Amino acid sequence: MFARATIRAAQPLRMQARRYATESGAPKGGSNAAVYALGAGALGAAGYWYFGGSAKPAAAAAAAAAAPPKPAFTGGDQGFLSLKLADVELVNHNTKRFRFELPEGDMVSGLHVASAILTKYKGPNDEKATLRPYTPISDEGAKGYIDLLVKRYPDGPMSNHLHNMRPGQRLDVKGPLPKYPWTENKHDHIALVAGGTGITPMYQLARAIFSNPNDKTKVTLVFGNVSEGDILLKKEFADLENTYPQRFRAFYVLDKPTKDWAGASGYINKDLLKTVLPEPKEENIKVFVCGPPGMMKAISGPKTSPKDQGELSGLLKELGYKQDQVYKF
Ligand SMILES: Cc1cc2nc3c(=O)[nH]c(=O)nc-3n(C[C@H](O)[C@H](O)[C@H](O)COP(=O)(O)OP(=O)(O)OC[C@H]3O[C@@H](n4cnc5c(N)ncnc54)[C@H](O)[C@@H]3O)c2cc1C
Repeated sequence: MFARATIRAAQPLRMQARRYATESGAPKGGSNAAVYALGAGALGAAGYWYFGGSAKPAAAAAAAAAAPPKPAFTGGDQGFLSLKLADVELVNHNTKRFRFELPEGDMVSGLHVASAILTKYKGPNDEKATLRPYTPISDEGAKGYIDLLVKRYPDGPMSNHLHNMRPGQRLDVKGPLPKYPWTENKHDHIALVAGGTGITPMYQLARAIFSNPNDKTKVTLVFGNVSEGDILLKKEFADLENTYPQRFRAFYVLDKPTKDWAGASGYINKDLLKTVLPEPKEENIKVFVCGPPGMMKAISGPKTSPKDQGELSGLLKELGYKQDQVYKF
């Protein structure tokens, strides 16, 4: 399946760029929650009418079924939750997927797309605790767990701690750390420019968009990696490409490709971005950027701090994008 994605990227880019087949304008706004709430209200009322004066159990059951699931992460002064590691999967030579149990089996994370969580660890010989953010890749509606995808850095205290953890052990986690608040059809077309584990917030966005039938946003992914084995979530993105060929396109770039690699090679460059990204003159587009510091500097300029996006510079500025058309994760 992945071959398909790479073949696309290997086609003459100018021929395929910015071309999506049919697209109908989706109605803006609309809230599933409102529809469900209405439905639930109607159900409750029906229960009461049917059972007359002794309708309480039916009404209570309906109300419980209609109640929104309890969020694990509520922010504010909640502090850190101690989450049990349930499962670990080796993804590639330096990356693992971790499943942590939420405190209660029927809880959802409570995270809204796009947002992250903060982890904390203090080793026996550490003076201070290490704090690092991660972006869960599990569905926001998933009950009882969150999944993290974490790359190990040779001298990285948190990534090494995580990679050394065994199921049953616990990790302190706090959240949510809100990033870019997504609502359906917020933009007509978004571009995701990612490097390495910078793919996790992009996946969170793409998953939210394509799992919502009301959301008609087009998505173009440009994903840079060192080698083919480093491409994370490739099956998930290939599935999206196959399922939504009119709305999702992926272009892979490898720094050190093997000679049979059919996609682009080198770093993500201006020509590629110019060819595949929605043009800056298009209305209501957004370009999201996330990756290692060198890539951020080259593509968009660095982010100054979690609260300060920093000035737009780099290739996106040269290509004519405006500050408010770009978001740095
Ligand atoms: C909002 C946000 C969300 C994040 N989500 C994820 C995620 O889902 N998965 C994930 O694996 N990481 C994610 N990260 C990165 C993560 O927070 C840590 O920075 C990373 O795991 C390294 O932590 P460490 O303590 O192991 O190493 P550190 O001590 O922080 O770094 C060790 C070495 O690795 C280098 N390094 C650190 N991060 C990077 C990088 N991104 N690219 C290149 N070199 C780097 C450092 O310069 C240093 O030399 C996210 C970062 C942010 C800001």
